[in-house]
Parts: sequence; structure tokens; C-alpha cells
Amino acid sequence: MALSQTVKCRTAESAGKLSKHLIKLGSGMGKSYPGHLFLKLGSLNCVNYLASKLGIGSIIITGTNGKTTSTKITILLLAKDAKLTYNYESNTINAIVTGLLTSKVDLGVFEYGIRDIEHAIPDTVCKIVDPVGVVYTNISREHSQVSGRKNPFKEYLKAKQLLSTPMKRGVVICNADDPRTTYIGKNKEQDTKVTYYGLDIDLEDKTPLTGDVFCPICGENLVYSKRYLNHRGIYECTDCGFNRPEPDIKLTKLILENDIWWVTLNGEIYNYPTDKNLPIDLKVPLPAFGIHNLYNLLCAVTTYISFTPNPENIKNTISETCESLDLSILPPGRFEIFKVKNKWIGMGQGDNGDALKANIQFMESYLGEEINGNTAFIYTTPDEGEDEIFEDHYSSLSSFKPVMVHVIPGRESIEAAKNYYEIIKKSLPADFYPLPYEEMDKRIDKIRELVKESTSKYIIVSGCGPEDYMWGNLKSRCKSQKKRS
Ligand SMILES: [Zn+2]
Repeated sequence: MALSQTVKCRTAESAGKLSKHLIKLGSGMGKSYPGHLFLKLGSLNCVNYLASKLGIGSIIITGTNGKTTSTKITILLLAKDAKLTYNYESNTINAIVTGLLTSKVDLGVFEYGIRDIEHAIPDTVCKIVDPVGVVYTNISREHSQVSGRKNPFKEYLKAKQLLSTPMKRGVVICNADDPRTTYIGKNKEQDTKVTYYGLDIDLEDKTPLTGDVFCPICGENLVYSKRYLNHRGIYECTDCGFNRPEPDIKLTKLILENDIWWVTLNGEIYNYPTDKNLPIDLKVPLPAFGIHNLYNLLCAVTTYISFTPNPENIKNTISETCESLDLSILPPGRFEIFKVKNKWIGMGQGDNGDALKANIQFMESYLGEEINGNTAFIYTTPDEGEDEIFEDHYSSLSSFKPVMVHVIPGRESIEAAKNYYEIIKKSLPADFYPLPYEEMDKRIDKIRELVKESTSKYIIVSGCGPEDYMWGNLKSRCKSQKKRS
């Protein structure tokens, strides 16, 4: 790097660090601002300079669902063994750079949401941050429209893939049970080490897929011999032979014990800092939090083992972290199951087809088959132009067959919600409440009223809606009702 360039980067670094310090003192600037300032004073190349100061390097975690939870658990694990800088719930390069404005740390751990190529510049992020790890949770359809522009699934998948495309060292971590992340991994095997994680348990998702799953290579329909959660399972393309790889680490046993789940992890994982393969054989307790979160845990454990500089700690670190894990680690909109008077309520965000389905499956695994044919569903719809998300939701609703579907707009368009309702009522008993987005309190009150007046013993409230503004508020108000009762 030329001297003038180095000076520029150092100046940007000092200004960025100073603003980060001021934010800590509570000056009210956003958490992305120091990164923004750094990029304004320096250049994209200066990010490279910052990134090169990390002892081991950066890890970037992306995917459709479970990014935040996987990132948080990864941070809890790695922080026990190494000095970290991190952030989660971030979708911009500014947030990552803010994290990199730090001194003397071993690893950077960053969640990075990618909706489309234009907004996320995934390949640029990879080039300038130069990560030693890119981690994929899962990929399913969402954001079929971004800022008024169509975002077809193929492009959405491509955007996720680009985040690891420029990598020439380190480890790419993929979910073997997800054909889309496996496809990305298969394409990286000649450049870097690729580590796959997956389930190997008896549990099976018997409900139909929310849509056909196409082979990412040739476009034929994939055939599943077993499905764990929607499109995640054991698959094969009978046309080109693309299939689910043998995972390097597997979750081999799951014992459900009321509010504690015991899981067994087995395998052998490549550790980047020591350049060694490490055998894994562990049994740990977890909170009862659904199959989708088992994937998040497995993803985090895999990332931790791949990057801990102290492999001798692995057993203790994982055991201690899992023992102290509780539901507060999950995002505010998370699906939770609780009892109000004599009714069981499952409530929380299900923004895309995959997430809504995971919620239904969690309710079934928690309360048993009894909920089938005895559950009312309060469904909050997607927005205008999100027909593909609705299709996936509708497929889950149709196969679950609630005794009643109460339809409420989850986003801004009441017109779109009404159209979705018209489709639902053709095959399921349903009613509709056209409440505007701006009057969120009324929406929340209506949902509480519907829960209260429902004659069903089981009620699921899920679909689209803003994380805190709707789900966070709704849940806390329903639970305060629980305390008063
Ligand atoms: Zn194929």
C-alpha cells in the first residue's frame, strides 16, 4: 500500500475509532455511523487495512432464517476462547466496518443480511473484508420484491453465493441438509475448505413442501428420502446426481424432555487456526426451542470449532454455553409457546414460508398431535407484491387445516391482505379484519380479543409483521394478560 494511502487509512481509522468511543459515551449516533465515517474519509481499500489487523480474521454469517440466533450463539462460544469484535442484526458494510474499528482482537464475527445484489454488494464485501469464514444458515424464498423491483429466487441465491465467491483461503460452512447452501459449498471446494453440518435423527417433517425444490444445477425437481424441516433433509437429483453430502458434523440424537432437549453431536471438523482436524463427540442440554433452532445451534457450534484458537477448550466451552443458554437469546419477534388461562398460544414472527412452517412444526413437537384439528390460526399477511411468500404460507396453512383462520394485514397493504383472504376462504373457514398499519395498537388489540374469544384450546398467531413494533408488543401484552389471570 502506498504511503499516501496508508496515511489516509490511518486518518480514517482514528476518526472512526473516536466516533465509536463517543457513541459508547452515549452521544446518540447510530451503531453504523463510525463505519460510515471511516468509509467517507478512507476508501474501500482501507477496509482491507483494518481487516488485516485481526489476529485470525473475520467470519461473516448469512442466510434467510436464523442468522441472528446463529451469530449470537457463535459469539457466546468464541468469546470464551478468544478476543472478539462482533455485531449482529446488521445488513450494511458500515456495520461491519464499525465492528472492525477496534484494537488487538483475534476474530471478527459479523451477521450480514443480503436481500439482493444491488443493495448488499456481497462480492465487494468479501473482497475488502477478506473473511477467513463465510457461514450459511439456510436459503429459502423471501423478499421476492426489493424496493419495487422484482428479485427472482435465482438472483437471490446468486447474491448469497457471491459473498464467498472471491474467497481463496479459510473455511466456507454450509448446511448439508439445504440443497441451496450445499450447492454454494460444492462450488467452493476447489478454492477453500468447505465444512458441512446436518441432522441425522429420527424426526421427520411429514407435511408437504411449501413449494417444489429444484436442483440448483440442472433445474429438475429434487427427490427427498427424508425431510427434517421443509426443504432441509436428505435429497437427490435423479437427473444429474447432485445430492446431499455426508455432513462433517452431525446432530445424531435428540431427546425431548419437557423444557429441556438433549442433543448429541458427532463428527470431525477442520480447525483453521491450528490447521488440524478435531474429533467431536458431545451430549449437551438445550432449551426446548424448535428444530429450526437446532440448526442454528449446529451452525454456531460448527463455526466455533472451525475457528477457536484453543481447541483444547472445545468440550468445556460448548457444554458451559449450552447449559446456560435460554430463550432470551432469540430475537424479540421469535415464536414462543405459552399458556393463558386454559389456552395454549404459539405466537411470533413467520415472515417467510419456511419460518411459518417451522413455527407450526415447533407447536406440534411441543404439544403433540392433539393440536391437529383443534387449532385456530390468526394469520398476519404479507404485503403487496409478496405473492410468493403468501403461496408458501398458504401451502402450510392448507396442510395444517386450522379450524378457523382469522386474517389480519401484517404489512401495509390492506388491499393485498384482502386478496390473500379471498384465496384462503375458498378452502378454509376464515374471516378478515382490515386494520391499517398506522394503527398498530388496534391490530394488536384485535389479535388479543380474537385470542380471548376463541373457543379453540390451541391458537397459533403467526405470519408477517414488524419485529418489535408488532410482535414484541403483542407478545408482552398477551403475557401481561397471563399474569393478571
Ligand atoms: Zn440436477
